[in-house]
Amino acid sequence: MLGPPGAGKGTQAERLARARGLPKISTGDILREAVQAGTGLGLAAKTTMEAGNLIGDDVMIGIVRERLDRDDARGGFVLDGFPRTVVQAAALDGMVDGRGPLVVLDIVVPEDVLVRRLATRRICSKCGVNAAVEWTGDCQNCGGTLIARIDDSVEIVRERLKIFLRQSQPLVDYYSPRPTFRSIDGNQPPDVVTTRIEAALDEAARSATL
Ligand SMILES: [Zn+2]
Repeated sequence: MLGPPGAGKGTQAERLARARGLPKISTGDILREAVQAGTGLGLAAKTTMEAGNLIGDDVMIGIVRERLDRDDARGGFVLDGFPRTVVQAAALDGMVDGRGPLVVLDIVVPEDVLVRRLATRRICSKCGVNAAVEWTGDCQNCGGTLIARIDDSVEIVRERLKIFLRQSQPLVDYYSPRPTFRSIDGNQPPDVVTTRIEAALDEAARSATL
């Protein structure tokens, strides 16, 4: 599942995984857990992120490859946060070779709507997870208190989004000619987006097996 920050990708990936009984594989979650557990990967990731750098393709590919090899992912999976680059996408093609069609769902939301959503975004003060737009009350992950993100001024959000969109365009170009690529209008109520995603997934998977 592809989409910019604020598109609701995490929530939708979670819902789809639950509906289909598949593991949701989020590279963000895997890295967060590794950091918390203090593993070698976690420590390396922490150092890289604290220095303000992105985790390299090799590390990300290694993480996903290891995760997709586990038993619970044999019958399928929902990927969130990967791939981020064309190099990662090409590696993913190799990983899923012979495992059934790779359906790519790109959640599209107008830039102004994303800016508005992100500028009002909240995170959990306890576990650090991004709160979904529809969360009311406490963190639905751990019950912690939700607080506004301190760096979310409109200018910073707009700039970060521009960088993301510029960097993710080659990925969309890489996937969009495929019959299993679907664009989803993410500027709708979350339940409507969920319904569209389910339909698009089935339809794209069917077109791949024809
Ligand atoms: Zn939490």
